[in-house]
Amino acid sequence: MKSEPKTTQLSSWLKTENDTDFTIYNIPFGIAELPDHSIVAVSRIGDKVINLYALQRDGYFDSFNHDLDGLFNSPNLNAFIGIGKKITSGVRSRITQLFEENTDEVSDKEAFSRKYLISAESVKMQLPVKVTDYTDFYSSIEHAGNVGSMFRDPQNPLLPNWRHLPVGYHGRASSIVISGTPIHRPKGQILPAGQDTPVFSATRMFDFELELAFVVGQNTELGSSVPVDKAEDYIFGFLLFNDLSARDIQSWEYVPLGPFLSKNFGSVVSPWIVTLEALEPYRTKGPVQEPEVLDYLKTDGLHNFDINLEVYIKPQESEPSLVAATNFKYMYWNISQQLAHHTVNGCNINIGDLYASGTISGPTPGSYGSLLELTWRGKNKLKVGDTERAFIEDYDTIIMRGYASKEGARVGFGECETTILPAK
Ligand code: CA
Repeated sequence: MKSEPKTTQLSSWLKTENDTDFTIYNIPFGIAELPDHSIVAVSRIGDKVINLYALQRDGYFDSFNHDLDGLFNSPNLNAFIGIGKKITSGVRSRITQLFEENTDEVSDKEAFSRKYLISAESVKMQLPVKVTDYTDFYSSIEHAGNVGSMFRDPQNPLLPNWRHLPVGYHGRASSIVISGTPIHRPKGQILPAGQDTPVFSATRMFDFELELAFVVGQNTELGSSVPVDKAEDYIFGFLLFNDLSARDIQSWEYVPLGPFLSKNFGSVVSPWIVTLEALEPYRTKGPVQEPEVLDYLKTDGLHNFDINLEVYIKPQESEPSLVAATNFKYMYWNISQQLAHHTVNGCNINIGDLYASGTISGPTPGSYGSLLELTWRGKNKLKVGDTERAFIEDYDTIIMRGYASKEGARVGFGECETTILPAK
């Protein structure tokens, strides 16, 4: 078994707030529209965005002996991610090096900052990748157990397949939007309680789902499979993912093929891709899987990640209220098993695919990752500031945050935020 991963102590000449998600340990990747309306690849430290296109143009990445032209002034990171981890993680290390306290390359820090740093407030973050395909898993045993108890049988909440394979469904890429994009309350068919014919209505049970999604970093060919022990080579990094859900539309439509219009009207991602490399120190062991899984799903070592996750609801004109706090480490199925299972039949994957974890719920009621569970299908209203909620109301803003922290080194995701507007 692998030993506990460690962090190497780093410090930067660029001073940041103590609780920033964007320490020198992080160095995530994103796409920003700058004040001059150019769109470039960026990284971030503290409240400053680093213009990677400008660094590349001025020769700071020349040591890679690889043509990086066009990769940092593209509207998405797909081509950059596609050059492979050897170079992308090299670029990340190179950025770390330039911002390290003891760098001897940046003699005039003020001039360097003027040239390559921009205030994060003055840029408009974009979707970091062109999302080629999107799959949503259902990998939290606590979430699947809670949902199974509510909708089926509390004595037997998990279906017979659940502990044998990471259950998932194909979602929709076209409606994945960047944090800050508002979403209209969806309309659809709903079966009112006690009736046997549906009505057409805006959803009355609007919900969030707290998830993390990984971004695929390598293509495969149709017919080939990603082995479970190589799966992480195909994963570039993670984003926060809010899988917005209309529970009443969902419960009427989902049998037998799973969710459809209850989920595909909008999902929201955070702007920064936090790389797998940045999350290395926060690896941890997953739960024991019982019964033992089939050989193609067997993993050993540390494949879960200790990432604290929070959800806030901000009603219009009041402060945000924390409604859920949980951790990614509780996931029953890990990312290697998800990708191995997804491709075991020969399904090909592409750079820019997103694979979301499924709602991340923990073992205690305050750690459930959806209102469905937090209010037990609307039964127990939740206190949100001076008011209460069964489900999301119009003009509520949903804010998700995530960070890992260990030995003084913090790596976080920033925010994934959306405001819900009335039905159109
Ligand atoms: Ca989901």
